[in-house]
Amino acid sequence: MRKPLISGNWKMNHNHFEAIQTVQKLAYLVGKDELELADVSIHPPFTDIRSVQTVIDSDKLGYALGAQHCHFEDKGAFTGEVSPVFLAKLGVQYVICGHSERRELFGETDEMVNKKVAAIQQHGMTPIFCVGETLDEREAGHTESKVLGQVRAGLAGRSPQQVGSLVIAYEPIWAIGTGRTATSDDAQQVCAAIRVCVADLAGAQAAESVRVQYGGSVKSSNIAELIAQPDIDGALVGGASLDADEFARICKLGA
Ligand code: PEP
Repeated sequence: MRKPLISGNWKMNHNHFEAIQTVQKLAYLVGKDELELADVSIHPPFTDIRSVQTVIDSDKLGYALGAQHCHFEDKGAFTGEVSPVFLAKLGVQYVICGHSERRELFGETDEMVNKKVAAIQQHGMTPIFCVGETLDEREAGHTESKVLGQVRAGLAGRSPQQVGSLVIAYEPIWAIGTGRTATSDDAQQVCAAIRVCVADLAGAQAAESVRVQYGGSVKSSNIAELIAQPDIDGALVGGASLDADEFARICKLGA
C-alpha cells in the first residue's frame, strides 16, 4: 500500500514571513490524523526554507520540508545555484527536479535531470522527478512516447531500490497553472504507463513501491477523483497550495 504524497510547490511566491504564516495556518487545519493517511511536503522558495524548517521542527508539525530545485554538484563555481548538500543539512526531505518550468525556462535537459536525481538520492533525500508533455505533443498522439522517454532518461543508472524509493510526478505541461486538468481517466492512463515503464526498467517491486503523483491545476474540487485512481499516489500542487485553506482541503481530500 503506497501512502499518498501531497506536495505544495509554492514556486516563486511567499517571502519568509508569508511562508511562516501560511505554515502556521496550515498547522491548525491539517494535523496528525490526516498525516497518518498522507504525507504532506511543502516546497517554499530557497530563502524561506530555514524559516519553514524552524516552524515545522519547533512545533513538531509532521510536514516534510521540500525544495523546488538544486544543482547536481556538491560545491563549486556555480553562481546562484544551491547544493544538494546544503539542502540535506537543512533537513530537506523531498526535492523537485525536472519541473517543466525549469526545463523550458532554464534549459534543464534530460541529462541534467538524471544527474540531479542521482545527487538528491546520494544525499539521502527523495527526488520528485517531473515528466510531462506539451499540448502539441498530446494532440499529435505523442504523450506516452514523450513522458516515457523522460522517465527512461531520468532514471538511467539508478538501481531498482533507488527507483522504487523515489517519486515521479506526471505533470502535463498544458495543465500547469492553466486551470485545465487532465481527466482522471487520462491521468490514470499515463500514470499506469509510467508504472509499467518502471517495471520494465527496474522490476516489479520498484514499480509497486514507486509513488506517482499527478500535477496540473489540482484543486479541492478535483483531487478526490484523481486520488481515487489506482496508479495516482498523490498530487504536486502549485497555485492552489499558496492558500492554506485550499491546500488544507486538498490534503484532507487526498488523504
Ligand atoms: C506545479 O507547479 O507543478 C503545478 C502543477 O502547478 P499548478 O497546480 O498551479 O498547475
